[in-house]
Amino acid sequence: MIRVYNTQSRSKQEFTSVHHGEIRMYVCGPTVYNYIHIGNARTFICFDMIRRYLSWRGFKVAFVQNVTDVDDKIIAKANEEGRTAAEVAEEYTRAFIDDMHAVGVLDPDIRPKATEEIPDMIDLVQTLIDKGYAYEAEGDVYFDVRSFPEYGSLSHRDVDEMESGHRDLRAADAGIGGRKRDILDFAVWKAAKPGEPSWDSPWGEGRPGWHIECSAMSRKYLGLPFDIHGGGADLVFPHHENEIAQAEAAWGEGFANYWLHSGMLQIDSEKMSKSLGNFLLLRDVLKTTEPEVLRMLMLQTHYRSPLDFSAERLEEASAALERITSLTRRLQWAIDNAEDIPSPLDIRKILGLMKSARNEFIFAMDDDFNTAGALGQVFTLVSELNAQLGDATCSISDVPILRDARAEIVELLGVFGIDLEGAGQAEDYPQEVVALAKELTGYPGENAQKAVAMLLDCRQAARKQRDFALADKVRDGLGDLGFAIEDTPQGARVTYQKK
Ligand code: AMP
Ligand code: ZN
Repeated sequence: MIRVYNTQSRSKQEFTSVHHGEIRMYVCGPTVYNYIHIGNARTFICFDMIRRYLSWRGFKVAFVQNVTDVDDKIIAKANEEGRTAAEVAEEYTRAFIDDMHAVGVLDPDIRPKATEEIPDMIDLVQTLIDKGYAYEAEGDVYFDVRSFPEYGSLSHRDVDEMESGHRDLRAADAGIGGRKRDILDFAVWKAAKPGEPSWDSPWGEGRPGWHIECSAMSRKYLGLPFDIHGGGADLVFPHHENEIAQAEAAWGEGFANYWLHSGMLQIDSEKMSKSLGNFLLLRDVLKTTEPEVLRMLMLQTHYRSPLDFSAERLEEASAALERITSLTRRLQWAIDNAEDIPSPLDIRKILGLMKSARNEFIFAMDDDFNTAGALGQVFTLVSELNAQLGDATCSISDVPILRDARAEIVELLGVFGIDLEGAGQAEDYPQEVVALAKELTGYPGENAQKAVAMLLDCRQAARKQRDFALADKVRDGLGDLGFAIEDTPQGARVTYQKK
């Protein structure tokens, strides 16, 4: 039985999916006006872990994540740089996808962009107006919060208290047009200002409010109600509260059954955010840190707890990962060098430990994705195997259990998106691949594994743009260094043969 903490009920609940054996999940994506920081990355890594675990547990998971590619911040950045909002959004969408690949976050099944879904949003806004939940005012459309009595149910806020909290803002708000009837109301459609991207609508030229896109897209791609809605805890109010209000008011049915929120990544006990300026870009951190180490750091803390990021914690995570990888190397050595001698191992004990580690791993993860507890089980197994192996040479008869033990650890870490096989192989990658990535993709780092990923992305993008000369250059360059590329339905896969 899987139990998840639901922000809406403020309790751990037994998880049951709407459709038998299937889980439909929606996680709010980024607003693409800058590179993502490691706080953003934490949220995306946490939900990647949840998705991977649910798939591993046997569910068929449908995962949708939007890209907010029209927004005040994108427009401001475009104006600053003398570019169009679409150019800014495209650049940072591409960068976001590259960053996600670099930390091993799986692609969503569907990644809708707000600008490509405008007609569905206009339909939703119209339905809200028709049903009396929204009103037009000089080309803007606002959701009438007081018309929806359940407003505040997710964030556990009382509408009257919110109102008094906002009283001071009243005057200022009136200053920016005074179009709202009530300070609590929020825009579902915004009239276009000169020079802004806009679309034709029944209320004139304009663009969608931020919250409306997630209500429209999640219903379109997952149907209502769907199982899990996720995002960082900072999105509970107002974003998710507004998503619920729009969807439930318009369609009169439940929206999402379980609301999961990840805790904030902090620096010196303060939330990492672009506005505070205390942020580290994910791509900068990855120049000096293996992606597996970063994931290890993130998953050593429960996804709902705040996570303090520091150089010391990175070192601890690196040491923890090294304990595991050195054991998998030791196991491989024992397999490769086994002799026809009596076994030095207590096979029965190892078998028992493997079984209990797997069971306890599942038990911990079923309890609201307790990654720290689950990792603890892996470490218990690692310690016992280390103790038993010592410096001993193993027997040929031990080889099957050594292989199983190694595969078990690789599999369990794989559930966290920590690829021990890949990490091991990358150690052998030739450093020339970094120079190749620098030349062909502008990759600024030193990490050979990352360089290969950048080259594969570059080749894919080149093929899409029908730049076959560049695509061939990447393939041939990699080929010269010993990498073979195989195109699979999941994307390009690379195998490396040392030359
Ligand atoms: P944004 O592009 O600002 O909408 O953020 C994208 C995602 O990152 C959202 O799910 C946010 O909740 C999440 N996020 C932003 N800052 C942090 C942080 N410091 N720690 C964890 N998640 C964050
Ligand atoms: Zn959203």
